[in-house]
Amino acid sequence: MSSDPNNLPSIIIGGGISGLSAAYYLAKRNLPSILIESAPQLGGVIQTQSVADCLLEGGPDSFLAAKPEALTLIGELGLAGDVIGSNDHQRSTWILKNGRMLPLPDGLMMMVPTRIWPTAKSPLLSWGTKIRMGLELLHRPVANAPDRSVGEFVEDHYGREAVDYLAEPLLSGVYGGDPYQLSIQSVLPRFADMEAKYGSLTKGTLAGLAKAPKNSGSTLFKTLKHGLGSMVAAMEKSIAGHCRVLHTQAQSITREGEDYLVQLPNEVLRTRHLIVATPAWAAGKLLESLDPGIAKLLGGIGYSSSMTVGVIYDRAQVKQRFDSFGFLVPKKERRHLVACTFVDQKFNHRVPENRLLLRCFLGGAGNEAVLGWAEPELKRAVLDDIRTLLGLDVEPVAFQVSRWPRSMAQYQVGHKKSIQELKDRLKGYPLLFLAGNGYHGIGIPDCIRTGKEAADGFQN
Ligand SMILES: Cc1cc2nc3c(=O)[nH]c(=O)nc-3n(C[C@H](O)[C@H](O)[C@H](O)COP(=O)(O)OP(=O)(O)OC[C@H]3O[C@@H](n4cnc5c(N)ncnc54)[C@H](O)[C@@H]3O)c2cc1C
Repeated sequence: MSSDPNNLPSIIIGGGISGLSAAYYLAKRNLPSILIESAPQLGGVIQTQSVADCLLEGGPDSFLAAKPEALTLIGELGLAGDVIGSNDHQRSTWILKNGRMLPLPDGLMMMVPTRIWPTAKSPLLSWGTKIRMGLELLHRPVANAPDRSVGEFVEDHYGREAVDYLAEPLLSGVYGGDPYQLSIQSVLPRFADMEAKYGSLTKGTLAGLAKAPKNSGSTLFKTLKHGLGSMVAAMEKSIAGHCRVLHTQAQSITREGEDYLVQLPNEVLRTRHLIVATPAWAAGKLLESLDPGIAKLLGGIGYSSSMTVGVIYDRAQVKQRFDSFGFLVPKKERRHLVACTFVDQKFNHRVPENRLLLRCFLGGAGNEAVLGWAEPELKRAVLDDIRTLLGLDVEPVAFQVSRWPRSMAQYQVGHKKSIQELKDRLKGYPLLFLAGNGYHGIGIPDCIRTGKEAADGFQN
């Protein structure tokens, strides 16, 4: 093994979107790298499949357009022409309450009401909650509030029902998390800032809306016509000349002088610039012998396990029409499904005329046992929920399961403080970088940003 730093390629562990982004931004600067990925394919939780003539996303299905990193990368990959938006003109989401599907009132931004009349009319919330929502305008600014849970924060502003029927189901679709564990400062920092500045979240949101450019016509979420997997494929292609991909499991990381040594099953690789782009808990295991303190902090970042199930029907056998993006099931309603998307309503180019595709979410904090269920048991549970909730009692033509154990980071109360500690400890390890969803945001654009920053951190 050479120890000449000029001959040592950078090493990236983890070939999800974070690690791939690191490889991409190194390749863009003509810098060589080795990407180590234990799964047989790249992309991590981004997995696009073709099932019964439908395009099915097993993991994420879109990304937030307001964060620029994904759109920038897609543009550089030459895929800008494939970007599509969600069909926001027909955007409505239902929430299950006492067994009935009720639409989220218009003008609600997360759990913040911005329009009086639709909220006042909505059967989703009791009069007690509606009155509290009005009185929330009187909340006084809170300077230097300590971090607390999303549940406590929302309860303080709008009451318990707003946690159970708005915050909990809306967040479980994103984090698969428990609102009484998740940190307001890390998960909804915008709302924490609004509380500090305006007191009332409604006032803060309305002030933000007044400043926002008027109806740009752009949609909140974007994706790619041929699925997010097409971005992974394009990245793989673009790094090909610069990056050697090894499909094997990294086992541990140690240090020798200025070099990092990465132990693989049958060899040891050496580098000066190391990027660990795995989930934080896996990074913790890898770094255990290098620095137990860092490993402990990484191991303390919670992860939840979730699952998506694509249920595809022959449209001719289905009499129902679903005029919505889908529905969310609050924990209180005690079903197996946590959420369900009517894919043909949300995005074009996914479902042909002769099919109906329901993308169901299961699992998340407190409901993780479902990941261990065998397919027949799982199928019975999912179809039973679909029958009860939607009145749809037809055998599907396909039932496709994607399991994601410990994949979704949970930023719990105190997360920001742990990340600062982690950063301070990493100062002792030059050119060792962490990328991924465990630190500064779990969305695809956040992950791309962490990969890019880890690549840009290497100045040759
Ligand atoms: C079901 C689901 C739906 C989601 N929906 C959305 C959405 O719609 N929009 C959005 O923006 N975000 C969404 N997210 C979040 C987002 O997709 C993820 O946060 C992001 O893709 C994570 O990318 P990553 O590269 O950091 O991690 P991962 O995709 O988890 O990749 C990490 C990789 O590291 C590899 N690895 C781990 N340990 C080792 C080792 N020791 N050696 C070698 N390889 C190793 C793993 O095999 C894996 O491939 C969703 C996530 C899930 C699970």
